[in-house]
Amino acid sequence: MKYTRQLFKTKDIYDPEKTDGLFLRAMKENAIFHDHHCEEYRRILEEFDFRPDEIKGMEDLVQLPFLPMLYFKHNHLQSVPEKKQLIKATSSGTSGSMSRIGFDLNTLLLGKDMVIRVGKYHRLWSVKPVNYIIFGYEPTRENKTAVSKTAYGFTFFAPARSRTFALEKGRSGYELRWDRVFQAMEKASKSSFPMRTIGFPAYTWFLLKEMEKKGIRYRMPPGSMVTLGGGWKQFYAQKVEKEEFYQLVEKVLGIDESHVVEFFGAVEHPILYTDCCCHHFHIPAYSRVIIRNPDDFSPLPDGQPGLINLLTPMMQSAPLLSVMTDDLGILHREKCPCGAKAPWLEIIGRVGIRDIVTCAAGAEEYLQKG
Ligand SMILES: [Zn+2]
Repeated sequence: MKYTRQLFKTKDIYDPEKTDGLFLRAMKENAIFHDHHCEEYRRILEEFDFRPDEIKGMEDLVQLPFLPMLYFKHNHLQSVPEKKQLIKATSSGTSGSMSRIGFDLNTLLLGKDMVIRVGKYHRLWSVKPVNYIIFGYEPTRENKTAVSKTAYGFTFFAPARSRTFALEKGRSGYELRWDRVFQAMEKASKSSFPMRTIGFPAYTWFLLKEMEKKGIRYRMPPGSMVTLGGGWKQFYAQKVEKEEFYQLVEKVLGIDESHVVEFFGAVEHPILYTDCCCHHFHIPAYSRVIIRNPDDFSPLPDGQPGLINLLTPMMQSAPLLSVMTDDLGILHREKCPCGAKAPWLEIIGRVGIRDIVTCAAGAEEYLQKG
């Protein structure tokens, strides 16, 4: 995985012209690896008559068979033995079916390089201790969802002075602790250290709305941030325009729009996408995106909506080098004022409407308990 390692160490994280060659070599390397180590994947490649050692240009990546994310919910594919999978993460399955993906040491080390670089570019690292308020689940031994793990992971970008979780494990499952959150907010507003919130956009929105209703207005210490993340579906669960969201953050917490940072990623595609100051999700060096026609899966030109196909050579543990989401998106190549040269992905929705409803209902149910 020589090329993959090089790719994950690149300094040019948003300059595809500089990394296209390396990305291609890394993809080829990864495809050959899975072809050799995962029988089921080899069978799929054979079925499509695709030979990984013949990958020569980016157009070959369009031909590389993609696996639907759904496929991983029903089939457990692996290319390294179970005992070498140090961490196991599951997608947040709202309907009972979820992907279980193992991460081996090599994959985790690549992830570490990526997080360091991306965090540096977006100025997320800080030596100044931070009061964290996490609008999400308190991690427990049983809770293996990637969402709760990533949320916890984000509390390492700056040393934690404190960590408060909105959803605490109680006797009857997770409970929303409004009281704790409000107390922590009050305290953080008087602190000389910055505060950072982390959470699903939907939860963050509901909590801020509730604070607005109660007439709470804070001016959080300088350097405070609102960070949003938690997988794909949460994006559409909240039917809030981003502008409205930023205005609410400013009103209730006194935090400027430039300090609201959004992330996304998925268990099946654990690349850290972070929005720029113009709130665009540029595609980092570690991945490429192909937008495909939902009818025949042919690639679509930039600017046209279609199914989002995500590619990365990051994963060694499972053949996740080209996965098809059931999300619709548009790839934009217009120049972004932030200066990043990489195209950016606009996620416009989900194919299966049922999932959206389930997720929104889940969020609301939790909030009503509080
Ligand atoms: Zn930008």
